[in-house]
Amino acid sequence: MGNNGVEKVVIIGSGPAGYTAAIYAARASLDPICFVGVPKQNPSLVLPGGQLMLTTDVENYPGFPEGVSGPEMMESFKKQAARFGTRLVDADITRCEFGERPFVLHTSDNKTVRAHSVIIATGATANWIGLDNEMRLAQTGGGVSACAVCDGALPMFRNKRLAVVGGGDSAMEEANYLTKFASTVYVIHRRDEFRASKVMQERLLGHKNVTVLWNKVVTDVLGGEHISGVALKDTETGEASNLEVDGLFVAIGHTPATKFLSGTGIVLDDKKYIKLSGQGSATNIEGVFAAGDVADSVYRQAVTAAGMGCRAALDAERWLAAQGVE
Ligand code: NAP
Repeated sequence: MGNNGVEKVVIIGSGPAGYTAAIYAARASLDPICFVGVPKQNPSLVLPGGQLMLTTDVENYPGFPEGVSGPEMMESFKKQAARFGTRLVDADITRCEFGERPFVLHTSDNKTVRAHSVIIATGATANWIGLDNEMRLAQTGGGVSACAVCDGALPMFRNKRLAVVGGGDSAMEEANYLTKFASTVYVIHRRDEFRASKVMQERLLGHKNVTVLWNKVVTDVLGGEHISGVALKDTETGEASNLEVDGLFVAIGHTPATKFLSGTGIVLDDKKYIKLSGQGSATNIEGVFAAGDVADSVYRQAVTAAGMGCRAALDAERWLAAQGVE
């Protein structure tokens, strides 16, 4: 903590971006405090540890040649942040006042924290259809995922029939990626035309092993420990049918965790992600930085988020030094 009970740097969020920012800030002797968040049952809410808490095996994070489970990886990030003295607090930040410095942050346990600088790393959550069995199988590694790039290459999906739900660029990209592993990729879309760009559609539809099911919504996910199929309903005729699949990838968009910033003056883009100014991690408010998926609707990978967390901590350190905050 700095002088007069004001924190030098407060980090909000505990995914790869938040913990990496914490590791760098702690090693730079900024004595950071990191608001990790409170656990929630609903995976469509921001969880402590972030989206990797819902990822069974992480095989694309460099340094783990054998892969690592998402929760295990986040436990290691957390330990590393704590090892250098980061204070970890199990609370959410519910409201921020950025109008005057020092900034004032309000916590979910009704406390206030004052800060010279803030790093926002609250992430984004995948949108889910909202079915009980979808949530159950997503949480238990039962073949339901919201990230083909994270999970699609796992052995359980090799040469299997896989389904992707959605009709945007993400669905095209995810389905395209899965064509490398799957025997068949079914794209299930609720209308009779895709929202995705023409070029992404054409790239996907050029694959022999892709079948599009138009005008269909998923009404249930079938199977015990592992998905065995999906129940579908035709949006035009109302007709019900079942489709046998061994994996389901939900690609119906993401929602960045920026609601708690409303009224703060932080500029968001049209998709409600934080807009960064220039190359670095600065937001439009001096002293407030952002990192990870909350400011990145494009890459959304653990490794890119960690890189952004590092940049935010370095940017905050330089900014604090320029302000004369030791
Ligand atoms: P998106 O463009 O909002 O598309 C979401 C898709 O999911 C839409 O087709 C929508 O159907 C469908 N959907 C939404 N809710 C649904 C529900 N409850 N049940 C069934 N279907 C549902 O989201 P996105 O594809 O994630 O893309 C987000 C942004 O990132 C876009 O601007 C996109 O261009 C960009 N992006 C770009 C790339 C790239 O260029 N490489 C890759 C990925 C994403 P309707 O069409 O009927 O609304």
